[in-house]
Amino acid sequence: MINAAQTCSKIELSADNILIVDDTPDNLRLLSKTLIKEGYQVRCAINGAMALLTIKTKIPDLILLDVNMPDIDGFEVCQQLKKSELTKDIPVIFVSALDTVFDKVKAFEIGAVDYISKPFQILEVLSRVSNQLNLQNLRRQLIQKNQLLQIEIYNRIAAETEIQQLNFDLEKRVVERTMQLQTEINQKQKVQKELEYIAWNDSLTGLPNRLYLIKKLKKLLLKIKDKPDHKFTTIILDPNRFKIINDSLGRQAGDQLLKMMSQRLKSEISAANIEITHFGEDKFAILLEKTANEQQAIAVVQDIQKCLASVFVIEQREIFISSNMGIVVCDSSYSEPEEIFRDADLAIQKAKHSSSNFYRVFDTTIQNNTLEILEIETDLRIALQHREFHLNYQPIISLNTATIVGFETLVRWNHPYKGFISPGKFIPIAEQTNLILPLGMWILQEACQQIRVWQDRLSGKHTDFTVSVNISGKQFEQEDFIQQLDQIVADTGIDIKHLKLEITETLLMNNIEIADRVFRQLKDRKIQLAIDDFGTGYSSLSYLDRFPVDTLKIDRSFVSRLNEKNQASTIVKATIDLAHNLGFNVVAEGVESQQQIDQLKDWGCEFAQGFLYAKPLMKEPAWQFLHQNLKGANSTKTKLIL
Ligand code: C2E
Ligand code: MG
Ligand code: MG
Repeated sequence: MINAAQTCSKIELSADNILIVDDTPDNLRLLSKTLIKEGYQVRCAINGAMALLTIKTKIPDLILLDVNMPDIDGFEVCQQLKKSELTKDIPVIFVSALDTVFDKVKAFEIGAVDYISKPFQILEVLSRVSNQLNLQNLRRQLIQKNQLLQIEIYNRIAAETEIQQLNFDLEKRVVERTMQLQTEINQKQKVQKELEYIAWNDSLTGLPNRLYLIKKLKKLLLKIKDKPDHKFTTIILDPNRFKIINDSLGRQAGDQLLKMMSQRLKSEISAANIEITHFGEDKFAILLEKTANEQQAIAVVQDIQKCLASVFVIEQREIFISSNMGIVVCDSSYSEPEEIFRDADLAIQKAKHSSSNFYRVFDTTIQNNTLEILEIETDLRIALQHREFHLNYQPIISLNTATIVGFETLVRWNHPYKGFISPGKFIPIAEQTNLILPLGMWILQEACQQIRVWQDRLSGKHTDFTVSVNISGKQFEQEDFIQQLDQIVADTGIDIKHLKLEITETLLMNNIEIADRVFRQLKDRKIQLAIDDFGTGYSSLSYLDRFPVDTLKIDRSFVSRLNEKNQASTIVKATIDLAHNLGFNVVAEGVESQQQIDQLKDWGCEFAQGFLYAKPLMKEPAWQFLHQNLKGANSTKTKLIL
């Protein structure tokens, strides 16, 4: 930026100084005297050369120049002045005795501003001098103004350029900042999305998680609130073997299986309006937003079953998985997702206990059932205090000798108002509520006391019998189970060879590590062991190899179907063969027909138990049965059907 004030001060001139050039001293004197009097600064030169020198030392504001001079005349002086940039603008007034038009024209042509003829009138000189100085001043002011204007223009252009540059820079920065902000926003959105993804999805399966499901269900429930006709369906899928897979193959294999299951579900079941979520642990939830119809939901459930039915290969092992599914058709009577989960869970439990179906649609009977369960739980507590239980004994027969080899003890509950309640009903509730622990101990104690009675009655007769007692998995899990057992054995004084413990296959497989430890301790005490209800669980026979088991009891559901030519027959035969290979003997449970006996005998099954021989008996009829049918105990024994 150029400073105008500084520039102006440079071109400001001092008071008017006039150079008088004349070779006539009188003229010089008169003119200088007059002009000094008028306040001008006056310098004088008496010829052209002197004039040029004087001008060089200080530029005059005006020159009064005589034309006729001896060496360099006035015209010449003027011409030289006009050639120089420094002096060309000095106003020159010729003062001359020559008064021809030619002289005047020439004077103006070479650049003079005025012409005064000699002899001059002093007033005229003063007037012309003053005019020219004014003119010169005006010219200078004009030049100065012009310069200021140019500076102004220059400054404006510079300012505009600067503004343009600043604008450009600003725009550039705005663009850069916008881009930077956009990147930051994008990054934040990405992080936000990632956080949301983590919050709403399961990291293992990549499926939406339980939290997501809860959010979604809350939204759907809100949507159908006060609209009794609007419904949707929630299915919870609970695989059956997960604990076994985790325990036997390790958690990693379990995770791998979950991943594979979710991939299959995603690729084969996913469709519009079907949303699959990982419900937690090994469970999945399937949300059918547009399905209010049980039949449609069942069709989906069947598709899911088919999709998961084929083999999964994990760590070069072939794994088959079966599941139970609870279906809840959700309407406006539900207000919280937890209520849906509760009902789905009840439906799953029902499906688990059903032999016909792997799924169950939740309905009010299940709910009533739940209330009944609660009632049984309360009654069980009272029953324990009031000793409402007793034991029955069901004979177990040797198919080779047609004699009794022992009994299975079966607990009975005679409810004071409700009458007989089946153990199939109350044992699972007792297990869920841990009431099986005191009840189980009472059963063991009672059974051992009975063994002691029969042992005493048969003493000296060289007879053998065993009494099998059903033991719940919960009892096995008790740290002090063995101590309690030792105590009972010691208190009752039984010969340990008469005692056999039964544990169901499913409980065994769900408690492999505990079973390993407890079985070993039992074996150390020479207590016999039986695997109960074999075939209903999922263990493979080869897996059972690790347990020191004596007996395998084939579940009634297989034995009852032996008459037909079906898969059950094949399974029973294969089970007997494999059990023998592993050194186990076999008891067929629930034998009801001669045909079944024939078949079982044919396949080499050692023992049978069932209504064909006897129903579970009270202790005295049981003793009668034992006494009459025990090998070598009584010669008048009734012939058992074989
Ligand atoms: P389980 O241990 O497999 O007992 C055999 C069940 O089959 C008994 O049912 C018995 O009455 C029944 N049964 C035997 N032969 C036949 C037959 O020919 N036909 C038919 N239809 N059924 C037959 P129950 O007494 O109802 O017991 C059911 C289940 O309850 C038992 O199955 C066992 O798991 C459990 N349980 C019974 N008593 C006890 C006990 O004292 N302790 C424990 N922990 N569980 C018990
Ligand atoms: Mg049993
Ligand atoms: Mg059984």
